[in-house]
Amino acid sequence: QSVKMIVGNWKMNGLSADLVEATALADSLSGSAPAARVALCPAATLIARMAWALNGRPIEIGGQDCHTAAAGAHTGSISAAMLKDAGAGLVIVGHSERRQACGETDAIVAAKFEAAVAAGLEPIVCVGETLAERETGQAVALVTVQVAASVPATAAGQAFAVAYEPVWAIGTGLTPTLEQIAEVHAAIRAALVARLGDGGHRVPILYGGSVNPGNAAEILRVAEVGGALVGGASLKADSFLAIIRAAE
Ligand code: 13P
Repeated sequence: QSVKMIVGNWKMNGLSADLVEATALADSLSGSAPAARVALCPAATLIARMAWALNGRPIEIGGQDCHTAAAGAHTGSISAAMLKDAGAGLVIVGHSERRQACGETDAIVAAKFEAAVAAGLEPIVCVGETLAERETGQAVALVTVQVAASVPATAAGQAFAVAYEPVWAIGTGLTPTLEQIAEVHAAIRAALVARLGDGGHRVPILYGGSVNPGNAAEILRVAEVGGALVGGASLKADSFLAIIRAAE
């Protein structure tokens, strides 16, 4: 059983004053070395400052998105190399909030994956079905297609993770049953092995969607759940710490 990966996605939350949550978390973790791999993905405006504040501490930093291009005339966008330069080691790509609000297709997500890897970042590729897709029995098929189309063929041998985030579970307090999580994670594993061969067995598959201190332990014990991608409960050090402790 490899070490769990617990990633906080702050989304469009957090001003400079909220960096105290990151340093408080680091202080709590430094007492005993965390048995989990821990990362925070703040807004791009906070990445450099968080990297300074957490220098030498056991918390990695990630971006929430990157552009497909390495540089150029893309007003308002951020390249993977800029995230890396600011201190990030990871980047979330294909979050459902971007797939839905910004029209990101699987092909765009795959291009972002490749841009991230080219800049030396580890992508976390998000997939997940909508409520309508779940209710019509399409969750496994849909997620399988998303993995095949969002993870580029060049991903073999690259460090990356997949996050299963059912759209209907994000920010709603609703979660799939443990059996449903196990079923989709098994399908993602099969899709990764089909796409990448044996290396597909080594890719961590995180669960995301209403993870909180009360449900984290049981979710993290489900087969093929290699960690958690946490939104709301990652904003405060105490609740995120409780989820990290549940992974140990
Ligand atoms: P919540 O944990 O707030 O449901 O958000 C999940 C998520 O989208 C993480 O990327």
